[in-house]
Amino acid sequence: MKEVKRSKKPWIYYYGIVLVVLMLFNLLVTPRILSAQVSEVDYGVFLQMAKEHELSQVQVTDNEIVFADQSDPVKYYKTGRMEDPFLVDRLQDAGITQYGSPIVEQMSPLAEFLVTWILPVILFAALGQFMMKKANQKLLQNGGLGGAMSFGKSNAKVYVQSTNGIRFADVAGEDEAKELLAEIVDYLHQPEKYASIGATIPKGALLVGPPGTGKTLLAKAVAGEAQVPFFSISGSEFVEMFVGAGAAKVRDLFKQANEKAPCIVFIDEIDTIGKKRDSGGVTGGNDEREQTLNQLLTEMDGFDARKGVIILAATNRPDSLDPALLRPGRFDRRIPVELPDLKGREDILKVHAKKVRMDESVDLAAIAKVAAGASGAELANIINEAALRAVRSGRSTVYQNDLEESVEVVIAGYQKKNAILSDHEKRIVAYHETGHALVAALQSHSAPVTKITIIPRTSGALGYTMQVEQDDHNLMSREELENKIATLTGGRVAEDLIFHSITTGASNDIEQATKLARAMIARYGMADDIGMVALETVSNQYLGGDASLACSAETASLVDQKVIALVKKQYQKAEDLLRANMSALNALSQYLYEHETITGEEFMGLLKDMGVKV
Ligand code: ADP
Ligand code: MG
Ligand code: ZN
Repeated sequence: MKEVKRSKKPWIYYYGIVLVVLMLFNLLVTPRILSAQVSEVDYGVFLQMAKEHELSQVQVTDNEIVFADQSDPVKYYKTGRMEDPFLVDRLQDAGITQYGSPIVEQMSPLAEFLVTWILPVILFAALGQFMMKKANQKLLQNGGLGGAMSFGKSNAKVYVQSTNGIRFADVAGEDEAKELLAEIVDYLHQPEKYASIGATIPKGALLVGPPGTGKTLLAKAVAGEAQVPFFSISGSEFVEMFVGAGAAKVRDLFKQANEKAPCIVFIDEIDTIGKKRDSGGVTGGNDEREQTLNQLLTEMDGFDARKGVIILAATNRPDSLDPALLRPGRFDRRIPVELPDLKGREDILKVHAKKVRMDESVDLAAIAKVAAGASGAELANIINEAALRAVRSGRSTVYQNDLEESVEVVIAGYQKKNAILSDHEKRIVAYHETGHALVAALQSHSAPVTKITIIPRTSGALGYTMQVEQDDHNLMSREELENKIATLTGGRVAEDLIFHSITTGASNDIEQATKLARAMIARYGMADDIGMVALETVSNQYLGGDASLACSAETASLVDQKVIALVKKQYQKAEDLLRANMSALNALSQYLYEHETITGEEFMGLLKDMGVKV
């Protein structure tokens, strides 16, 4: 998409450019005009030619000698005039009698004067005039504030319609969002249709969803589809150093938009300015942000949607927005942009795979399956990482294993090539990961293991066990959740069983297990004697979810007790399972220790060979 930016460069900048151009002109161009086809040579060349009688004409001036040879057509040369007492004799010897009159047509002194002195002055004067005019316009626009005060001008970028712009087709999946946005596009194209029936189109629409799901992309696609000017500004750009500047920017943005209607205004990351305003003012508040928000609300109320200005905004923390922004007549339409499902992931991979040379054997559906939970941005990153990996290994197409490795890179960080794991540590990690995998396999309601590895990652993980759900599912039963916790404890259980000592390696498992257990009790109502009571509320649902307790202190300690008991019970279950399969645990971890990576099929095959019923 072509982007036309408002210029913010000071005049001095233009003067500088002109000055440089003029200097270059004087240095390079002017002398060339004057000395057309005269080549500069050494005095020795002149002497040589005089001696050999090759001169046809000579002109001697105060500081140089211009001369011509006898070739046809004549070539002209010039050389600096040396202190040469025999010059006249030499010329006489060479048969040259006239050496005072000009032999090359030179620019007349008047023309020379004009080019070197008058032309630059005229150019400067013209430029000055132009600048003055501009300054006057600016003064008018700003209602008297110009020059130094123009810091408050919005630097909204104008995305001009262009044929190579982003279209809906570039956004894979997100069909609901596209459908809702298509209505807005339709309105911009034929407002009469809506006006005649008396329908008012929403003034603003808010795109909400986790980071990297394509909100910004969708907004750009709307502009590409509607073929109208697109003003895009990020919330953080409003928050400036000077109090009042943000509000001025909002005002300016809407003024521009009104002039360009029909058009789309897009405010990305609106939560930076649109956060709930403090009521008590205990924290002292943020006056600047509040002023900016107030200005935004005023502008949204003030302008007439019938003119065809649509305001889009995007955020990944809708729950922190000021309710005033979400009131009818403002951002009253909420467009969810969710993480892609299996099909969506495959489509997104396809969109991005188009830009990369893929081997024919590549199976994107399989990659989509492994990359459960990945956002659009992460999927785009997976494709790119795979391409980089192919280049690193000197290939010209991307193979399946490039993609597989890059899923792991994006999810777990790079393989740490030179991580030094002592032999003992490697054994512990092998048991730990086998513990996870074995507990997972021995339970019925749990996702199959697809890969176990003890190759350390830059993310700090010393190894990991990958499980992939057979299909996307959104509901999890209590058994599944419990099994998940048991699987998470499996690593620590194995360490304890074999080495009778425990390590720090399970910290991430512990964190995840605790989170799950807490959610089961306080959020999903899965504790028998508490029942369907929400004891926890979640804010920031798209950013990992910060849970906060919403209950009395006694209940809170009850929740803690229940969480502890739940995790303990699952730990016990994992321990029982592993105790009953000690030989498998030993054999598998030995195998993992030797091979460092086991695929899901290998793993299942080994279990079968050992006669373990799964
Ligand atoms: P957000 O604004 O929601 O955080 P972006 O729109 O900035 O996310 O997305 C980042 C990048 O991820 C996009 O430029 C695009 O390459 C990729 N992407 C995200 N979602 C999609 C999608 N649905 N289809 C295709 N590409 C996507
Ligand atoms: Mg964005
Ligand atoms: Zn672990």
